[in-house]
Amino acid sequence: MFELEQVSRRFGGTQALHPLDLRVPEGRTTVLLGPSGCGKSTLLRLMNGLLRPDTGRVLFRGQPLRDEDLLTVRQRMGYALQGGGLFPHLTAEGNTTLMARYLKWPPERVKARLHELVELTRFPRDALGRFPGQLSGGQRQRVSLMRALMLDPDVLLLDEPLGALDPMIRYELQGDLRDIFARLGKTVVLVTHDLGEGAFLGDQVVLMREGRIVQRGPLAELERAPADPFVTRFFQAQRLPFPGGQA
Ligand code: ADP
Ligand code: MG
Repeated sequence: MFELEQVSRRFGGTQALHPLDLRVPEGRTTVLLGPSGCGKSTLLRLMNGLLRPDTGRVLFRGQPLRDEDLLTVRQRMGYALQGGGLFPHLTAEGNTTLMARYLKWPPERVKARLHELVELTRFPRDALGRFPGQLSGGQRQRVSLMRALMLDPDVLLLDEPLGALDPMIRYELQGDLRDIFARLGKTVVLVTHDLGEGAFLGDQVVLMREGRIVQRGPLAELERAPADPFVTRFFQAQRLPFPGGQA
């Protein structure tokens, strides 16, 4: 779905990403995992063209992302920003349907799609008229997810979609997300710094550190054969049982 070839990106004096290669397979969930500041969000924003790489190139479905067709290509990628990124002056419905209305979908089609998404994400229908400030954290995340799914994109890019939720709500939404991914069968790239969440939601993980990929593969493989002491430390830091480790 995505191929990154020698892609790097710097911000001022910070090398956010060193040149890296990455293939994101179709129809699977790939989890970008790693401590805060390691470059996960940067990598995600390079995939949907919100950021351009300093070196290398990003291919989407075999085609390089080009400035000319970025707007149309991006409509095939649902993106949920870190923190939700909802417009505070738009209701839940307004946020969800914004792009469809901008693209001049007929109102019946907008309504029909909205109702599908309400079902899918289990968002309370009677809260559609509320503004983000009047929603709970979990409800805001569901709106963010509905908005990302509105145009029925080929791929979902989710940046810490369960970031600031309390553990019980987070647990519930993780389960819902996993069901939704399974039901839709879409390509998903999900950013998290939480190992348990990555293990629960992802088919393969890409573990990053300081702008580099340390190891990638199924999580069990990282556990069994850590490529670097950092992998072991990352597992231990999350206090999960780690075969071969001391935790
Ligand atoms: P993560 O999502 O893994 O926490 P980011 O990709 O957001 O990490 O950031 C990687 C590094 O790049 C960090 O050092 C961050 O401060 C820096 N960075 C990211 N975006 C910007 C920006 N727009 N301007 C300056 N520095 C940035
Ligand atoms: Mg981030």
